[in-house]
Amino acid sequence: MTELLANQVCGRWQTGSGPGTALTDPVLGSELVRVDATGLDLAAAFAYARDTGGAALRALSYAQRASMLEAALKVMQGQRDAYYAIATANSGTVKNDSAVDIDGGLFTLGHYAKIGLGLGDRHHLLDGEAVRLGKDPLFQSRHVLRPSRGVALFINAFNFPAWGLWEKAAPALLSGVPVIIKPATATAWLTQRMVKDVIDAGVLPAGSLSVICGSSAGLLDQLQPFDLLSFTGSAETAELIRSHPAVTRHSVRVNIEADSLNSAWLLPGASAEAMDLLVKEVAREMTVKSGQKCTAIRRVLVPQSQADAVAQAISARLAKTTVGNPRNESVRMGALVSRAQLNAVREGLDLLKQQAQVLHDGSSHPLIDADASTSCCIGPTLLGLKDASASDAAHLVHGHEVFGPVATLLPYRDEAQALDLIRRGQGSLVASLYSDDGATMARAALELADSHGRVHVVSPDVAASQTGHGNVMPQSLHGGPGRAGGGEELGGLRALNFYHRRAAIQASTVVLEHLAPATSA
Ligand code: NAP
Repeated sequence: MTELLANQVCGRWQTGSGPGTALTDPVLGSELVRVDATGLDLAAAFAYARDTGGAALRALSYAQRASMLEAALKVMQGQRDAYYAIATANSGTVKNDSAVDIDGGLFTLGHYAKIGLGLGDRHHLLDGEAVRLGKDPLFQSRHVLRPSRGVALFINAFNFPAWGLWEKAAPALLSGVPVIIKPATATAWLTQRMVKDVIDAGVLPAGSLSVICGSSAGLLDQLQPFDLLSFTGSAETAELIRSHPAVTRHSVRVNIEADSLNSAWLLPGASAEAMDLLVKEVAREMTVKSGQKCTAIRRVLVPQSQADAVAQAISARLAKTTVGNPRNESVRMGALVSRAQLNAVREGLDLLKQQAQVLHDGSSHPLIDADASTSCCIGPTLLGLKDASASDAAHLVHGHEVFGPVATLLPYRDEAQALDLIRRGQGSLVASLYSDDGATMARAALELADSHGRVHVVSPDVAASQTGHGNVMPQSLHGGPGRAGGGEELGGLRALNFYHRRAAIQASTVVLEHLAPATSA
């Protein structure tokens, strides 16, 4: 029997009482560890986090909590090799792809530690200036932000067990809100290990960070007014979460990050250099983490006259992608996370092929050191529509997210059609634009800003410095409207808003003057 991972609840490591669910190596098919949450006293777990963890965190200032994040970061920096080994075994990712998750998570934590120090020795934040409420200037209103007196429950997706933990937990803990995380079962090991390292090092107050691995059963029933719920995953599960009775009854604040049909757009009249930048970015986005990124490019919009050239250039890059066991140094793209995901990708491809043609066939890639009958490896596939009219008609391409190394090329006739096609994604996390003309790109970016959380603009002058279409930087907003879930995460200090309650304090200016600098909790 493999090890049964323990859960951290009520300030103690506790294993579930059931046999557990096995986590497997998606390349070798072997069992790695097991997770189980059967029999945990969830009511006690939530109460402990809320009461013990919350009180301890709120007693600290923002700067003290930022130092605490810094200490957690130091602990984990010493364990990076162990995290990479877990990622290779459990996520089947090559080193560079593991880095996106592990180092991306640590970088995000470090960013919040740094900007948190700047908030200083205070226990609340101010929002805007005081404003007069009537003729008499003595009586005014000032808005303040105080940490929510609840617990933040995170239900995360399988594709970012490290980054998904810290991009949420860093702003929550900095805000003074305790966290309970339930990682996706398939890759829960890395999340559990990181939490274990930080808890065992004693750098966080008791109750401020809990982890529950295994079934989500009963978790949402524990939610109370002032608790917060942040979900990342599929649109179907998001629907269940939003409508859960505890969420609706208690007006629990919910953040949802769901699926997204992100676009890359080569603008009309773009130079060969700009086209080359799009080609590189699409090929990279399709293959990083085998396309299992919520921000990955799924739809590639190119002027009809350039469609063939772009298709050939992307296909030539994809053809060089070596696929298979990430332990083999020659492999550039590892596995999907599970056989279930492999089947979902194959089914999704079959669906899209009803309307699109195959321009580069992933099945032409031989697998290196991996057995096609047991591993979850699959080569990258580029699909394409034959012309601009077909791009209009292909409703499946605008409606179905294949969560793997798959993208579709869509020829368009003019800017208006391109905008219309991009908006048919019904709200996305990110769109990237490629051109040389600053004014045109600025106009196009504004056109897309109301349907996207982020617009990534790539012109030749930033070819070397641009941070990548799919890379989520903590300084910028992450999330998107509509189909993407309607959530907002990161964006520097904006992330703290979710974990604070805003209140207007109406009083004499004599009272309001005492609000800044901060009072204690
Ligand atoms: P999923 O099946 O919806 O699972 C997500 C999480 O929800 C897992 O922790 C899962 O636990 C849990 N869960 C499942 N059923 C639940 C229920 N009835 N109540 C409460 N929790 C429940 O999604 P996934 O397949 O893991 O993730 C892939 C999707 O996530 C893709 O569509 C992708 O686009 C999206 N995604 C979005 C972002 C973003 O930031 N926008 C980031 C990453 C991924 P178990 O694992 O135990 O079932």
